[in-house]
Amino acid sequence: MLNVLFKYLLTFVFIGFLGIRFAAANEDAIVIMIGVDGLRADTLERMPAPSLQALANTGVRANMIPAMPTKTFVNFYSLATGLHPKHHGFISNYPYDRQLSRKFNRQTDVSDPKWWGGEPIWITAEKQGIKTATYFWVGSEVEIDGVRPSFWKPYQQDKDYSARVEEVLGWLALPEKQSPRLVTLYFSAVDTASHTYGVGSSQERAAVAKVDKHIGDLLAGLNKLGLSEQTNIVVVADHGMANLSDQRVINIDSWLDLSAFVIPDWSDEKNSVHAPFLNLYAQPQVVDAAYQKLYKAHPNMRVLRRGDFPTNYHFDHPQREPDLMLLADSGWSIYASRDKSRPQPMLQLGRSIATHGYDNQDPLMHATFIANGPAFEKEMMAKPFDNIEVYGLLACALNIKPAKTDGNVERVQYFMAKDCRPSADH
Ligand code: AMP
Ligand code: ZN
Ligand code: ZN
Repeated sequence: MLNVLFKYLLTFVFIGFLGIRFAAANEDAIVIMIGVDGLRADTLERMPAPSLQALANTGVRANMIPAMPTKTFVNFYSLATGLHPKHHGFISNYPYDRQLSRKFNRQTDVSDPKWWGGEPIWITAEKQGIKTATYFWVGSEVEIDGVRPSFWKPYQQDKDYSARVEEVLGWLALPEKQSPRLVTLYFSAVDTASHTYGVGSSQERAAVAKVDKHIGDLLAGLNKLGLSEQTNIVVVADHGMANLSDQRVINIDSWLDLSAFVIPDWSDEKNSVHAPFLNLYAQPQVVDAAYQKLYKAHPNMRVLRRGDFPTNYHFDHPQREPDLMLLADSGWSIYASRDKSRPQPMLQLGRSIATHGYDNQDPLMHATFIANGPAFEKEMMAKPFDNIEVYGLLACALNIKPAKTDGNVERVQYFMAKDCRPSADH
């Protein structure tokens, strides 16, 4: 009898010990989210990237579906907040706001809270007493509810990549009380190379190799610091990329005079534009007339009116939704010129030869997702999922209570080695 009691006692102590260990591991968990701009979902199939491949092989990998339109600010901010663009406000890289009667300005508005809705994951974490550090991320330069990341930086595209990794490792090497448990890191090189030289170019390969090398250096540095076991690495892209062709140009000059419209994404209005989509803002009569002219104008261009956007677009923000959206099929460009006497063929412009911004259901627009670490399952190819779920995964890995989002962690619970459901103890 005593023997049996003793065994029970031992089992009890052992389970208790495991519980304490698990809780301790949770409290120590570090999350590093790495944003690789334009890293298309199929990149690992197309070229070598040994560090990313190793993370994918032993962790969770999926094709991630971006938010609409498939642009940088829209998507990095959906990743950070778990919100659809209609709820966070970035319905394009340059949203136009009807109430303010102007478009977003990258110089002055990056730190103005009125443009930035929702609660990025670093704000949620800081509110719960967890230190965070953002080495660049869309939305990380703004104070939200009076809170900022403990460490953050104004965006600097040309900042040396080794310096970024060194500084992140420096933050993680700080004494425990000062050291961040959530870190973001961002690289733009793959997007830039793909725009300029195309998907499949040697320059795209070189950019992927470069980013991969720096991620490898980060992993080696974590190992040196003895932090590998407790660190979750989450690699995300904002969108994919499609090659363009001068055989796939939709010239709208003959159908439409654009002078009556506000077109916030057209940065240099004196020049022509080649765009995957145009968001147009104007008075109702102007919009109606344009719609009638355009809606059957070209088989590779969709013409969508305010109120009629497909339900899975989720960018019908009350003040910012466009009155009219012209959306080309992937690989097509909508061309418009201010000076109609001087139409310019696209490939002679020396601008992008690949781009993104197309329909988010097109696999060419899908983004890479890789997650690896103690919070995540091992060796899993998961199903495609919407990027608004990433916030919930990060909150779960950090063991913090998430803010309300458009995501539902139940949909991605199977990615995780721990229980993320709201009833689980956070
Ligand atoms: P896109 O026009 O959608 O291709 O945007 C890509 C560009 O966004 C990159 O070349 C980056 O330099 C820029 N970018 C990325 N993150 C930020 C940021 N936090 N602040 C300003 N610009 C950014
Ligand atoms: Zn991008
Ligand atoms: Zn881009």
